[in-house]
Amino acid sequence: MGGTGGIGAMTATAGSEALTTLHKIFGYEAFRGEQEAVIEHVVAGGDAVVLMPTGGGKSLCYQIPALVRPGTGIVVSPLIALMQDQVDALRALGVRAGFINSTQDFEERRVMEAEFLAGELDLLYLAPERLRLDTTLDLLSRGKISVFAIDEAHCVSQWGHDFRPDYLMLSVLGERWPDVPRIALTATATRATHQEITQRLNMPSARHFVASFDRPNIQYRIVPKADPKKQLLAFLREEHAGDAGIVYCLSRNSVEKTAEFLSRNGVEAVPYHAGLDAGTRAAHQSRFLREDGLVVVATIAFGMGIDKPDVRFVAHLDLPKSVEGYYQETGRAGRDGLPSTAWMAYGLNDVIQQRKLIQSGEGDEAFRRRAAAHLDAMLALCETAQCRRGQLLAYFGQDADPTGCGNCDTCLTPPETWDGTVAAQKVLSTVVRLQRERGQKFGAVQIVDILLGKRTAKVIQFDHDQLSVFGIGEELTEGEWRGVIRQLLAQGLLAVEGDYGTLVLTEGSGSVLRREREVPLRKEPPKPVTSRSASSGSAGKSKAKTAAAELPENLLPAFEALRAWRAEQAREQGVPAYVIFHDATLREIVTVWPSTVGELGGVSGVGEKKLATYGEGVIGVLAGLTGSATPGTAASELSDGPSDDPGAWPEEPDMEPEPDDWA
Ligand code: ADP
Ligand code: ZN
Repeated sequence: MGGTGGIGAMTATAGSEALTTLHKIFGYEAFRGEQEAVIEHVVAGGDAVVLMPTGGGKSLCYQIPALVRPGTGIVVSPLIALMQDQVDALRALGVRAGFINSTQDFEERRVMEAEFLAGELDLLYLAPERLRLDTTLDLLSRGKISVFAIDEAHCVSQWGHDFRPDYLMLSVLGERWPDVPRIALTATATRATHQEITQRLNMPSARHFVASFDRPNIQYRIVPKADPKKQLLAFLREEHAGDAGIVYCLSRNSVEKTAEFLSRNGVEAVPYHAGLDAGTRAAHQSRFLREDGLVVVATIAFGMGIDKPDVRFVAHLDLPKSVEGYYQETGRAGRDGLPSTAWMAYGLNDVIQQRKLIQSGEGDEAFRRRAAAHLDAMLALCETAQCRRGQLLAYFGQDADPTGCGNCDTCLTPPETWDGTVAAQKVLSTVVRLQRERGQKFGAVQIVDILLGKRTAKVIQFDHDQLSVFGIGEELTEGEWRGVIRQLLAQGLLAVEGDYGTLVLTEGSGSVLRREREVPLRKEPPKPVTSRSASSGSAGKSKAKTAAAELPENLLPAFEALRAWRAEQAREQGVPAYVIFHDATLREIVTVWPSTVGELGGVSGVGEKKLATYGEGVIGVLAGLTGSATPGTAASELSDGPSDDPGAWPEEPDMEPEPDDWA
């Protein structure tokens, strides 16, 4: 803690200064959740480790202390490609922000350094690989620093999915600047990562703030994989036409193919993976941030730190390697709090492929064990018959509503379970016969063909129609048998071995074969359900998930007119539309219907700078819409639901919504 003066008095002033900053600069009414406590603690000079889900509001936790405390806040972030946008967004708020990174030329860097040394910056963004340079550390020690913010702090975790070696050296910050408070922030929440962050960043006396990790506006759904690209297309067409979203695939090849497939079928999509050159990657990322409704198909190399608030869906075509990774990726949907979907297609091949990857991958035995434990947790999530959100929160050590969340697939359409003991025995017996009688091991395809009694070329070649188990499984379909095998793998009652993904027994298999345990299984849907609207009739479909969801009909033209105006502004300034105003702010503007610039200032998300820059423009758009610039009259008509007066909404042909937005 900073030691000068009475801490109590300082805290009280700091508190009100923080609140004033929140109102004036950011235009927000009140702090959310833990924000106030974190900010108060850091402004008073304390170290903090902050765990908050994506969209929880981490940025304010360091931006406000940087504004309130004297000096420049140094933000350590691994995301060079996003620094320009982050800084643009802050500058649009009137915050003096800058960055130093390798995308700048010498002169640009020199200007930044001079501004920092002259005390003209509130916030300075740096990548860790730059911070470690002696020249950078020297520069920093010649200026005044208000706070160190270590963003994406889980990158320090060597077992994590985003490890960055340069993060390890950040522990020197505390040694070199013992009086400057440090705040480490992440959306990765397991206790292990939490501990690792605290240790490796050397922050033993930091206070810990753990927010709820629930993201109630995201609907979690995991569907059986049949024809994933087609399933994805149906999902997008039925529920997210015209929406921005991210589709994750494991390989570069499937990224390319999926992006192509979507584009061919009328969904504008671009690929993003490490194999593309830097220019293409930057261009695609920039389009995603700037355009409305673009889909990015990506490997996991895309998305960290993307603060686009209106990502309406995140889809996984392949199984993620861990629940942490999955939760971070899906968390990129719906940061604006509006309804969004996390959708995943998952099948037997995912399990086999991931198990193989772990076995043939690099790393020692301990590494492999950890990877396997991560995969097991992910599989348990996929196979659960319980509330997905409950399972996710439990994984992060948090409580969930025991009666279910009502907004995941298992809550919306509870899966049926069945006693799969006999089916499991049939699969395991087949594996046993092949091994004992023939000394052979085979993969899932051959096992299923044997169970179904299919005389394929390969079955005949190996005389497998002579086995006593041949044809003993005709009561189930091929898809159902694959489902049984997948669930046995997920439950650890069967294992995968070698490069060919052959199936072998585990320690648990014996108890099933000896009938010592039952094997409850989830029923496979008769044919893959592509979406909720397909399974629950029209009810699902009527709930549009676009930004306009739940706005009264009579406000839609105004909302759309403001979006068109915003797009124009964004184009002129070369910034993403959300840098001007978020969708959520536009929604509130049309709901409040301010008739003066002063009234507009009361809307959440409209701070002083934005009011000065855009106030007249917004009021002008609204006035143009009513066809009457008389202040006050429109507000009362509109706040009372649908207007009876059809004349209140003259046609504005130039501002017609894009038809797709409402599909
Ligand atoms: P994170 O970095 O934790 O993912 P952000 O800092 O980007 O989250 O915040 C998520 C969204 O919530 C942003 O659109 C931000 O402007 C908004 N937000 C944050 N704090 C508040 C607040 N106190 N009141 C209203 N909106 C807020
Ligand atoms: Zn649920």
